[in-house]
Amino acid sequence: MNKLKLVFATNNQHKLKEVQAMLTNFDIVSLADINCFDDIPETADTLEGNAILKANFITEKYGLDCFADDTGLEVEALNNEPGVYSARYAGESNNAEENMNKLLNNIKNNPNRKAQFKTAIALNIQGKQFIFEGICEGSILTKKRGESGFGYDPIFMPDGYKTSFAEMNMDEKGKISHRGKAIEKLVTFLKEHHW
Ligand code: IMP
Repeated sequence: MNKLKLVFATNNQHKLKEVQAMLTNFDIVSLADINCFDDIPETADTLEGNAILKANFITEKYGLDCFADDTGLEVEALNNEPGVYSARYAGESNNAEENMNKLLNNIKNNPNRKAQFKTAIALNIQGKQFIFEGICEGSILTKKRGESGFGYDPIFMPDGYKTSFAEMNMDEKGKISHRGKAIEKLVTFLKEHHW
């Protein structure tokens, strides 16, 4: 039987492989696989809005079923910033070191270190749209710790753990992370329905 083709609107090979391994009944393809090299607009002011923009862009331009994700870090003491602007917090270059430095500088020694990562996924399938969300609660460290992962991982410690995300290996992080949880919901949903 032919597998249902589903575009994952990403160029991140790591994310792609992770999802392909979880959804073996589907033919999960990346943007490069459908020859999409467009600069897809991410101009919404919410994570969900950006995920929808990306998924709709693909469905409208290529007529394909698709899902897209968007992630942000919300820091309570900073009025939930950087949030939807996490990638470009310190400027257009999306430089992780500069982003973390700016965040540490802004939060200073504020005792409220509460923060959460949030991932929104928009799925367009057979003419319908579904939204999934994953949240990982934790706190902002006073200094960077660890070398693995990416983005804000060295300064984020998930609740219930004594290590930063950057001190965990990929599998450990994937089990408890915002994106892991959102993807888990997407996978469960896709498996529970007959397409
Ligand atoms: P994206 O929507 O997955 O591209 O994420 C937007 C930005 O949020 C990234 O450029 C990172 O700065 C940050 N980010 C997303 N996911 C993570 C994560 O798992 N750990 C640390 N930072 C992340």
